[in-house]
Amino acid sequence: MGDKALNQAIHSLRPQGVYIILAYYLFTPVNDPYAEVAAHKEFFCGRDVTCRIYISEEGINGQMCAEQRDAEAYMAWIASHPIFSSLHFKLTTYSHQVFPRVTVKYRKQLVAIDAKVQLSKGGEYLLPQQWKQWLRDGKKHVMLDVRNNYEWKVGHFTGAEEPPCTSFRDFNRYVDELAKKIDSTDVPVLMYCTGGIRCEVYSVLLKERGFANIYQLKGGVIHYGEQVGNDFWRGKLFVFDDRLTVSLQGEGKAEVIGRCHHCEGSIEDYYNCANMDCNELFLCCEGCLQEYCGCCRTPCLSAPRLRPLAEQQPHAPFQRWHHYFMTKPKAPRHIEER
Ligand SMILES: [Zn+2]
Ligand SMILES: [Zn+2]
Repeated sequence: MGDKALNQAIHSLRPQGVYIILAYYLFTPVNDPYAEVAAHKEFFCGRDVTCRIYISEEGINGQMCAEQRDAEAYMAWIASHPIFSSLHFKLTTYSHQVFPRVTVKYRKQLVAIDAKVQLSKGGEYLLPQQWKQWLRDGKKHVMLDVRNNYEWKVGHFTGAEEPPCTSFRDFNRYVDELAKKIDSTDVPVLMYCTGGIRCEVYSVLLKERGFANIYQLKGGVIHYGEQVGNDFWRGKLFVFDDRLTVSLQGEGKAEVIGRCHHCEGSIEDYYNCANMDCNELFLCCEGCLQEYCGCCRTPCLSAPRLRPLAEQQPHAPFQRWHHYFMTKPKAPRHIEER
């Protein structure tokens, strides 16, 4: 059995069953976020749960996967929680655990941005049905996708623009350009992200810069998929767990819109560059993966620390550095929604 097959076999040994994937966030003042982190960790003790949860003075942002009984217990616990009780959960089911472990951490900001924003001044919400109706009616608008570029590449709403959202400065520059192109006091701007949290922040930035009619998709694309399906959506939804991409309406029905980074062939398999100091997330077909030894570009091929090609698997995040090397990498890049 080759390394790749062995890894797949190990992956399939993870317990199978009905797992609930929960996505949620809530902006609310938290006096002692460290105490809430500790309470969460204690609650998860002995339960079949994996997660990535961040708590700050401004609220909570979580993604979690749990066996049905534990998911229900968690939702009941939150419903009786003194500060998080108004949390809204977006739920999906899956056959496996999708996060590598339990991660509950303090974080200064729930959405990484170099600015202080007043969240109460965000855009107006559009429920998934209202969003769909807006598009169906063909009402005037500009639509912004405020996710990352690698998310956009495998799926997005028809007609959406993709502003640069990796840095705050780039986003602001984009907004200035947009203000020159359209009448910001008149033209409605619709914005969306994966679960809704980014829009809470980015919509404030737009309003602060004079855009009068800002609308954000309530609950993000996850909620839209749940409520409406894939109308006006092309491709798949990138998610921040072992699944990597999901279809908005059942598995395997969505059109593949991703293109191989090297040959432009139609593909939606993501890999991290085999050069561990690059680690770029890129779309790649099987042929190009072999040809470039799992690298994103030619210079990466001669890098000192290359992850073995057999370890390059789509839809299964790469192992941590210590799996391959004895020394620590300089700056590992993590993929997670912020
Ligand atoms: Zn290719
Ligand atoms: Zn690379």
